Amino acid sequence: MSVAGKTAIITGSNSGIGLGVARELAKAGANITLNSFTDSEEDHTLAASLASEFGVTANYVRADMSNPDDCRALIEAAGGCDILINNAGIQHVASIPDFAVEKWDAIIAINLSSAFHTTAAALPVMRERGWGRVVNIASAHGLTASPFKSAYVAAKHGIVGLTKVTALETAEEPITANAICPGYVLTPLVEAQIPDTMKEYGLSREEVIRDVIMTRQPSKSFATVEQLGGTTLYLCSDAAAQVTGTTISVDGGWTAL
Ligand code: NAD
Repeated sequence: MSVAGKTAIITGSNSGIGLGVARELAKAGANITLNSFTDSEEDHTLAASLASEFGVTANYVRADMSNPDDCRALIEAAGGCDILINNAGIQHVASIPDFAVEKWDAIIAINLSSAFHTTAAALPVMRERGWGRVVNIASAHGLTASPFKSAYVAAKHGIVGLTKVTALETAEEPITANAICPGYVLTPLVEAQIPDTMKEYGLSREEVIRDVIMTRQPSKSFATVEQLGGTTLYLCSDAAAQVTGTTISVDGGWTAL
């Protein structure tokens, strides 16, 4: 079974990892639904350019992943779902006493609860179509922790747990659920953390990259969005039909430390 002709929905996919994974799936022939909360002209142009570059069907659906109804409506609007990539995510860095409640709520909603809502809407569709793949983009922070990232670490550990439950509830069906745990990938999300970390530790940008970010990543280099797309393709392949309820780290050795 290849992904060609399958319908893939990727949450939070107008930039970074989501877009990279969408591109790799489109390159392999999957029809794509891109998503974000913005609904800009560029979002629709992005979908059109995927369609023309790879000869697949691609559309863009606005849905705010902090809103449960939007999450469920996204699956409906895509008009089918064989592959669900739960990728939307945000970050905020502060110590627990200083962590704004609205930031905690937003991270839990977007990084964790959205995956519950999209999965709940997608599983009946996959069952009807007789095949499915759920790929949750977790993080090395789904397996380990860092100070000042309480909500993110809690949400990412939570999505690893949700992945296991999804796998158990679909274990006897041709549906799998797995989580990819990337280390650092240079995307807008990571770029946005650099100024906060510079402030938190009183370091320059270069020092933050070398002494804070890469101290956790023994390879000393960023993972790429193409590598995460390749890992997703593997999880969608027949070779991975018995790979379910687990995590795959793409973290340059982070979790080996
Ligand atoms: P990014 O900021 O480039 O992309 C985040 C995406 O989520 C964007 O498309 C954005 O539009 C979307 N998004 C944010 N809020 C949304 C909302 N309310 N509704 C719908 N979409 C929303 O970041 P990224 O680095 O590509 O992160 C993607 C995922 O990968 C996140 O879940 C992140 O936690 C995870 N991750 C990233 C890294 C990394 O180093 N970049 C490492 C591990 C895990």
